[in-house]
Amino acid sequence: MNILVINTGSSSIKYQLFHMEDQSVRASGLLERIGEPAGRLKHSSIKSESPFVMEKHIADHETGMREIAGLLTDAKFGVIKNVSEVAAIGHRVVHGGEAFHDPVLIDDTVIKAIEEHIPLAPLHNPANLTGIRAAISFFPGVPQVGIFDTAFHTGIPRHAYHYAIPNEYYKKLKIRRYGFHGTSHSYVAKKAAEFLDRDIARTNLITIHLGNGCSITAIKNGQSIDTSMGMTPLEGLIMGTRSGDIDPAIHFYLADHSDLKFHDIDNLLNKESGLKGLTGTNDMRDILKMRREGSHDAVLAVDMYTYRIKKYIGAYYAALGKLDAVVFTAGIGENSAEIRALCLEGLEDMGIAVDSAKNESNKRTIRSVQAKGSKIAVLIVPTNEELEIALQTQEILRNGK
Ligand code: AMP
Repeated sequence: MNILVINTGSSSIKYQLFHMEDQSVRASGLLERIGEPAGRLKHSSIKSESPFVMEKHIADHETGMREIAGLLTDAKFGVIKNVSEVAAIGHRVVHGGEAFHDPVLIDDTVIKAIEEHIPLAPLHNPANLTGIRAAISFFPGVPQVGIFDTAFHTGIPRHAYHYAIPNEYYKKLKIRRYGFHGTSHSYVAKKAAEFLDRDIARTNLITIHLGNGCSITAIKNGQSIDTSMGMTPLEGLIMGTRSGDIDPAIHFYLADHSDLKFHDIDNLLNKESGLKGLTGTNDMRDILKMRREGSHDAVLAVDMYTYRIKKYIGAYYAALGKLDAVVFTAGIGENSAEIRALCLEGLEDMGIAVDSAKNESNKRTIRSVQAKGSKIAVLIVPTNEELEIALQTQEILRNGK
């Protein structure tokens, strides 16, 4: 069975075609710069050693999807003869609000509900919808499934998702914590439980997703009970370009005492802050290099970044009461021994101790790096959001929902 996973951004479409029997990727690609004069499509497949790269104007997502469907069925670069060989398509959808707790088969009602959530994710949900509509036209009759970034967090209790502002704003405008990166947190949590040979339903974890976007989740008995991103992905940890937690009064102070208008402040906090604001780059590899070379900005940025994570670990440990493992994932979490060590430094009395040699080994697979005698396991689990979307899509097909 082949399942196509699609992640549509405002000017991009990322895709992977999985062969579910062995969970292998048969073809994958990235189409970027849709709508710009020079679009770029890079397509790799098991059929050819070197990828196919095309540079040309791609007017819109519809045209992009036609190119992708063409490449998947192409005599030289394709891996299927006809689009009907795709059993289902799984779409990443960023915001499902309170409506979607689980993956769903997409129909007109679901499309309408995703549209209704546009105010909560004005950049992402319209792009996701465009991808869904284009996939429906170029893969006619193929079931389309929506997998929501927010779904894993919909069980967070009220005391953790409400903000302390008058309740009418929750009732009227649905202002509350939703949380994101749900597919990644849920995937690594399941993998961690399997690795520890534990029943996920009896396992408490803190999962730390450190990529360009960063978030941390407290998982009790397999369920998310709190997470650092909020109504939008801006809240919480320091990220590549986002500030994370900040005194909300700073927004008003900036509006009163600088030339910035509200949309400039939005841009500043989402796109110009975080690691980029502190050091000039959002690439952690460069920042760690600058830090080794003695850059004061890089030293401060890494101290702030890891201190914020440590504070959340303490808070979520207290919220959970009992903790089985701390799990690192995504670009920085999987690859940087230095960042992992700094986040967990000094937590030995809390039962979290790292073995430096194990932490520094650069194996790519799931592994534990806690010191002998550490009460709590420390795991590195490579995330795979696309595979998780494919698995959840397959599950929907099986259940016929
Ligand atoms: P992601 O969004 O998961 O692709 O992660 C992107 C982030 O991972 C970027 O900040 C990269 O600099 C960072 N990253 C990737 N490899 C490494 C590495 N070996 N050491 C430190 N950071 C890394």
